[in-house]
Amino acid sequence: MVALRAGSATDVGRVRSNNQDSFLLADPLYAVADGMGGAAAGEVASALAVEALGNGFARSGPPTAESLVSAARAANRAVWDEAEANPEMRGMGTTLVAVALVDATADDADEGDDGNAGTAGTGPADQQLAIINVGDSRLYVLHRDQLRQITYDHNLVAEMVAEGRITPAEAEVHPRRNIMTRALGVEPEVPVDLFVEAARPGDRYLLCSDGLPREISDDLIASYLRRYADPREAARELVEEAKRRGGNDNITVVVVDVVDDSAPPPAPEALAAPSPADLTTALPASPVSPAEIDRTTAVAVVDAFPPPRTGSPTRPGLVRRTRSALTVRVVMFVLLLAIIVVAAGAGIVWYARATYYVGLDGDQVVVYQGRPGGVLGLDPTLREYTHVTTAQVLSSALPALRSGQEVSSLAAANSYVANLVAAYQTAQQAGQPAAGPTGVSSPTTSVNPSPNRSSTTVAS
Ligand code: MG
Repeated sequence: MVALRAGSATDVGRVRSNNQDSFLLADPLYAVADGMGGAAAGEVASALAVEALGNGFARSGPPTAESLVSAARAANRAVWDEAEANPEMRGMGTTLVAVALVDATADDADEGDDGNAGTAGTGPADQQLAIINVGDSRLYVLHRDQLRQITYDHNLVAEMVAEGRITPAEAEVHPRRNIMTRALGVEPEVPVDLFVEAARPGDRYLLCSDGLPREISDDLIASYLRRYADPREAARELVEEAKRRGGNDNITVVVVDVVDDSAPPPAPEALAAPSPADLTTALPASPVSPAEIDRTTAVAVVDAFPPPRTGSPTRPGLVRRTRSALTVRVVMFVLLLAIIVVAAGAGIVWYARATYYVGLDGDQVVVYQGRPGGVLGLDPTLREYTHVTTAQVLSSALPALRSGQEVSSLAAANSYVANLVAAYQTAQQAGQPAAGPTGVSSPTTSVNPSPNRSSTTVAS
């Protein structure tokens, strides 16, 4: 008989404002979910998925691969139903990857007589590890010091790599790497990949959200798994390394060791709710025992859905990850931009309209509101005819009138015009030549000192 020992760690990372990953330690079931959706929907989706998975698996009777798949489908339905019931949760979804120690079925023990690959040269014939996956969280196995990714990533770039259209290196920086082709909870039904591995003492399993492989290569992951015998320490160090290398996404790691059951009995596992805190573990460490590894790896793919060989980025079912933190930032940015634009517009209008100037309309001295020549398309408007003509002001005052003599208010404008007329009349009385360019030497109209009474106001 074998048993499982696990350690886990999760961290929000260095960019996101909330942790939408969830994980489950419920011996003999372990899972990681990476939620997506606006506001808090991603957190809801991933937490709901692992909870429903755990409950469904626990209620299914003897643990089997089939019951794990059924629990995953129930989890899909739980997330879907929650999104349907809450409009603000629409579109939420999650990845889900899980491993469970299960009873081997007769068909599995018969090494694939149903057409599927069977388990060969395995550990105890009555125990296996069942693995389910939907989305692009991952499960690896470290077997005889060699790391192997068991799950397929259900995202667009992974499919493009599988089809040979891009290289793995190109996939790492591809702009569409966040486009998922399968996720839990976005449709009422979802295909669930199932893999079955022999239960080999000494094997170490790693479940992780994409925040880990996004920052750390498979080689480095393998080296950490080899270096730290304690699964708790291995999980914690992997998360810390991913943070040091960028932490651009939430990072969640669960390390599960397959051990011989002769080890001391473990403490009860807890059904762990996701915690933004960093480290949770269920059981004491159990070092890998290479001496016990004497069997070949065999994988039974009972109900797997290999990565599609054809695919269009526009076909239904594609899911773009959305992050609430990102959404909040975008909304804040747009809001700030709108405030700046409105404030700038108001400022320009104020600048263009908060002043007056005395100018000419033909031979008429008039008062405009605005600035001479206008400001950014905001032209000045004619506010008053003064009944004063160019013949009634000194010729020396005409250049300022032609270019527009700015004043601070309508009253100041009228005062300025009255001064012009007074200066002209003074010059006339002194017998000085004072005619304007029209050559008319005497005023035809006197300015009214109170323009509000006799002047003509033109609609602004
Ligand atoms: Mg992620």
